[in-house]
This record gives sequence, C-alpha cells and structure tokens, in this order.
Amino acid sequence: MTQNIKNNIAQIQKTIDDALIKSGRPQGSVVLLAVSKFHPQQEVLDAINCGQLLFGENRVQEAYQKFMPILEQNKNVKLHIIGQLQRNKVKHAVQIACCIESVDRIELLDEIEKQCTALNKSIDILFEYHTGEESKSGFTDKQQIIQALNNFKQGKYPHINPAGFMTMAPFTEDKTLIRKSFITLRELSKELQAAFPEYNLNELSMGMSSDYQIAIEEGSTLVRVGTAIFGPREY
Ligand SMILES: *Cc1c(COP(=O)(O)O)cnc(C)c1O
Repeated sequence: MTQNIKNNIAQIQKTIDDALIKSGRPQGSVVLLAVSKFHPQQEVLDAINCGQLLFGENRVQEAYQKFMPILEQNKNVKLHIIGQLQRNKVKHAVQIACCIESVDRIELLDEIEKQCTALNKSIDILFEYHTGEESKSGFTDKQQIIQALNNFKQGKYPHINPAGFMTMAPFTEDKTLIRKSFITLRELSKELQAAFPEYNLNELSMGMSSDYQIAIEEGSTLVRVGTAIFGPREY
C-alpha cells in the first residue's frame, strides 16, 4: 500500500514538473495537495511517511476525526478544507485547517472570523468561484467577492488572510471546456489582484486527478489530487 502511494506521488510529481517545463513556468511553482477524503487514517500516515505533508478533506466531521490526532503529533502536517462548509461546522474546521479553500459566501467569512477570534488563530482562505456549468459550489457573482474584499479592507476580518481563488472544472471529457474554466479563474484572479494590490491573492487552486496538467498549463499553483494518489474512493 505504502509502495503504491509512494509510486503514485512520485509519478504525479514528475507529471507536474513536465507540465511546468511545457508551460515555461519555474520548477516548484505548483504544490501538490493530497485529497484523502473517504480514505482511512492509515493511508494518510502512509502518505506522510512518503514525505507528503499537505492534505485536503471536504467533510469537516470526517477530517476532524482523522486529522486531529495526526496534527497534534506532527506540526509539519497541514490540512485544507476543500468542500462546501456549513456554518455549524466552521468551529471544527478552523481548529484543524490552515486554509479554507471553499469560501463561497460572505456569511461564511463572518463565522470564520468569529471562530478564529475565539481560538486566537489566523487562517488563510480562498474564494471558490463557480466556473463550470454542472458544479453547484462557489461564488457565482464576482461582485460578491469584490464586496468581501472590501470588507477585508475595512478591517472586518483581522484573523483571516485572503490568499487567492479555487475552482472545480466541469465534469466533462471536453478538454476545451475544462481549460476554459481554468482560464476564467486565472482572469478573475488577475483582475481582482489588480483591484486589491494590498492583498496577495496569488494562490490559484485548480486541477484534480483528471485535469491537473491542463490546470498547470493555465497557471495553477495548487493541485488537489485524490484518486491518482490513493486510488478510487468507496462511498
Ligand atoms: C474530491 C475532490 C478533489 C480530488 O478529486 P480527484 O478526482 O479524486 O483527484 C479535488 N477537489 C475537490 C474540491 C474535491 O472535492
């Protein structure tokens, strides 16, 4: 098992490096996040043994049970929350995560700020933007993100650091549509970075097992890969 995970990670890292070369980007400018949802704690430990330290989970309850003991033991392990987040799960989410990638509404920021204040902790967030037809999650209105960034400017969220953007490409075989979705996110990022130079909005979380090469060609800085590392999930 560990051997599989090790080979998979090495293979993906090689593919990432090749995609960076192909697109004329510097080596090391994309980080691999291992999506361990629906996989047991032991597989996370196996991946850590292979040197993988950054993980993503989309359900807080599952993540809390799986990762709390790991995070207490190993300060180098980092976790991102990447799935749609309900208000009543924010408390546990900010306890275990260093970044919430799936911020899709302004009310969530109010709750994250509240819980981070209680914990005296700072956290990164990404704005999830809706770029694909079928996907249900993410801000659909750019004006809402602008509103959120204006709230930041007014000092409303002192414990939160806006670090960039996340998207999920549409579930389709059509590579043109997938690429279009990534281009949309990159252009949004460019536009909002220019409008809000006081923040570092450089993180572009895009690309999963089936499309991370395209995402890297379009500027991804963070790829969220599950199946290609851990194998298929049993729901
Ligand atoms: C599950 C998930 C992934 C990983 O998907 P794979 O196809 O298994 O690589 C990436 N991002 C999000 C938001 C997910 O929920």
